[in-house]
Amino acid sequence: MPQNPEQIKDHAELFQQPEYQELFKNKREQFEGGHSDEEVERVSEWTKSWEYREKNFAREALTVNPAKGCQPLGAIFAAAGFEGTLPFVQGSQGCVAYFRTHLSRHYKEPFSAVSSSMTEDAAVFGGLNNMIEGLQVAYQLYKPKMIAVSTTCMAEVIGDDLGAFIGNAKNADAIPQDFPVPFAHTPSFVGSHITGYDNMMKGILSNLTEGKKKNTTNGKLNFVPGFDTYTGNNREIKRILGLMGIDHTILADNSDYLDSPNNGEYNMYPGGTKLEDAADSINANGTVFLQGYSTQKTQEYVKEKWGQQTKVLRPWGVKGTDEFLMTLSELTGKPIPEELEIERGRLVDAMTDSYAWIHGKKFAIYGDPDLIISVVSFLLELGAEPVHILCNNGDNEFKKEMEAILSASPFGKQATVWIQKDLWHLRSLLFTEPVDFFVGNSYGKYLWRDTKIPMVRIGYPLFDRHHLHRYPTVGYQGGLNLLNWVVNTLLDELDRNTNITGKTDISFDLIR
Ligand code: SF4
Repeated sequence: MPQNPEQIKDHAELFQQPEYQELFKNKREQFEGGHSDEEVERVSEWTKSWEYREKNFAREALTVNPAKGCQPLGAIFAAAGFEGTLPFVQGSQGCVAYFRTHLSRHYKEPFSAVSSSMTEDAAVFGGLNNMIEGLQVAYQLYKPKMIAVSTTCMAEVIGDDLGAFIGNAKNADAIPQDFPVPFAHTPSFVGSHITGYDNMMKGILSNLTEGKKKNTTNGKLNFVPGFDTYTGNNREIKRILGLMGIDHTILADNSDYLDSPNNGEYNMYPGGTKLEDAADSINANGTVFLQGYSTQKTQEYVKEKWGQQTKVLRPWGVKGTDEFLMTLSELTGKPIPEELEIERGRLVDAMTDSYAWIHGKKFAIYGDPDLIISVVSFLLELGAEPVHILCNNGDNEFKKEMEAILSASPFGKQATVWIQKDLWHLRSLLFTEPVDFFVGNSYGKYLWRDTKIPMVRIGYPLFDRHHLHRYPTVGYQGGLNLLNWVVNTLLDELDRNTNITGKTDISFDLIR
């Protein structure tokens, strides 16, 4: 379609021009069945009914908007937390382009990850040559300190043996023998991005700590964030540990990588946990996991191979943060500083201020299992009442844990936990049993548009709003942010519902 260079329009305006409207009309008639507006409206209404909900939930062979990502996406996210590390994906270029853009669109940052660009010949003969050449080029061109290898479905279907291939690459002098190349098999036809995160974290830690076990401990505690996409969280955890004087290693800290300063110079590998610190993590006093379901295999590995005590602590909301701090105090013998007690008081005060607006409000939520547990627990503290809890990548263990949390609260009784369901299922749930607000990632904006139910953006990805990922959601400070996002969404909605002059504006109050 020709454009007048004197009149460049933003696409929101551009597609309203007559020539585009004509094009859409023709497309609808020629390729989309050309149904009348009345018929489209009739079917649209039907999709909101209980009858449609039953058909929708009987669906088996199709997933619509699954609310989960691919395993290698989680793997490259984990790798980016280590100093000078280049994520390398054995597989097709298209997959890796998707992971990179997914992360870049969320963080508004460049994300460096390479692929071995497997095509048809590799699909037939295997991807060994791609791996050897790819590692050699990546090592020489991008000068990393470590290359972390994961796979796409293609390499997994063929059955590429990463351990053997990396050995072959070293024997062929593509990379030095002592250069660290941890790897993880990350097939996306099972699990999700949190499985990939877990596999890669375990792969990197086992590679770096091999032969590093000493007879004495290093006196530190390790902290594994899990697939936590809030860069503010690692910073908040480090601030809390600093206040308590706890010597620690974050495994691994990608907050500088995913939120780097613009100082005029491009740095391909900003920040990250030092490789020698990660290698020494095997000698720590213990390891605290800030998520449970995205770190299952890593937890097992740390317990069994490193012989360390492990704990899963989710420092979200008042109770979660209390437990986190008290456990750290028990583990290290260090007192909880007054500064944190004051922060607790501030959060409790803020919750009291907002309580009346949130108490009794019904809500739905979807996302990763650890995120759901953390957010629901906090909202229960505020007296909000969950109705639909949907976790595509949740398993029966998650369902059980979530149901135990719900039944322990007077506000959790009417919730249903749905695992392995998608956002099209959630659409049916929201139309047939509406709620006051829902919590989810940017994909929820279509649910918001269709159902008109207010949406609170918490989770990953957040493509369509800026900077939310920079704020912490953990600790008492993080609780303030969560509270702010929820209560102000509800107040915005109240304003929208009370703003008709002379009709509803008797309640269009200045003070809420
Ligand atoms: S599902 Fe498999 S093939 Fe598809 S993008 Fe993910 S890794 Fe690639």
